[in-house]
Amino acid sequence: MELRRPPDAQHAVAALGNGSLALAGGTDLVPLLRDGIVRADTLVHLADAVPRGIDGTRIGAGTTLAELEVDPQVPAALREACAQAASPQLRSMGTIGGNLRQATRCWYWRLRFPCWLHGGEVCHAKAGQHREHAIFGNERCASAHPSDPAAALLALGARVRTDRRELSVAELYRLPTDESRDVVVLAPDELVLELDVPLPDASVYLKAMDRKKWAFPLVGVAAARFGDRVAFGLAGVAPIPWAVDSADDLDRATPLPGTAYKVQIARALIARAFSAL
Ligand SMILES: Cc1cc2nc3c(=O)[nH]c(=O)nc-3n(C[C@H](O)[C@H](O)[C@H](O)COP(=O)(O)OP(=O)(O)OC[C@H]3O[C@@H](n4cnc5c(N)ncnc54)[C@H](O)[C@@H]3O)c2cc1C
Ligand code: SF4
Repeated sequence: MELRRPPDAQHAVAALGNGSLALAGGTDLVPLLRDGIVRADTLVHLADAVPRGIDGTRIGAGTTLAELEVDPQVPAALREACAQAASPQLRSMGTIGGNLRQATRCWYWRLRFPCWLHGGEVCHAKAGQHREHAIFGNERCASAHPSDPAAALLALGARVRTDRRELSVAELYRLPTDESRDVVVLAPDELVLELDVPLPDASVYLKAMDRKKWAFPLVGVAAARFGDRVAFGLAGVAPIPWAVDSADDLDRATPLPGTAYKVQIARALIARAFSAL
């Protein structure tokens, strides 16, 4: 396998596609390559191609979660989401760009079961063990999106700048379909360069997990208040980060037998987040 380190975004984009994949911190991609779940002939290292750092509301895609969690310019919901993600070592390597594009943690998918998301016909999780899985958007694939920061960015109404367009975080994700089983709308050679994160009047991120540290969200709830309006973004409840207007939206959840408990957790965390704001 070849490793390239292009000097800027333009060269990086030109080097992507046709068996070449973007490599940032490598905390998700390297294990996937090691386990043979993802294949690549060439890795395109983004260290010189993608901005890194925080300047007011602008955040470079190469900024690490460790940098975000301590910067006072960053809204509390995003800082807290980063601080509660993964472990200190992973947060020192993992970038926000890579975090938004991380793959599902569904163990059937990670263990290479020929499930629907891998191009097969069935979702093994639905018939099998699915305690960590989704309560919304789970008709075809019941995986639960693992990113805490993505839920915070959704509640904050953040925008994403790529090498070719600008879109909201809400537009970045979409439920996988039979035609395209990806959860992001980005092209294979499209790079996330920068985020623009509006400053709310108040925001918070609350996370229910199996351990107090170093665990993916069973349910993560981000809330952001802009004037009288409060927006919520949820992690761990759908194949993509999931927006709700209030706890009433949980009445429309479609939990699996083993994920019904998540509805109760989400309801409690939304109430707590609302009080905190
Ligand atoms: C044990 C463990 C526990 C974890 N726990 C949590 C958790 O609790 N909460 C949570 O939110 N996350 C968690 N994570 C995920 C972790 O935060 C991500 O792996 C990390 O943020 C990914 O960033 P990276 O820079 O290492 O990405 P990489 O591994 O380098 O890349 C990941 C993907 O993003 C693509 N990519 C990277 N940068 C860009 C870019 N700029 N534009 C377009 N595509 C890009 C890559 O091609 C690849 O497909 C955990 C990970 C591990 C291994
Ligand atoms: S939840 Fe999605 S990734 Fe997991 S087995 Fe079902 S189709 Fe595959």
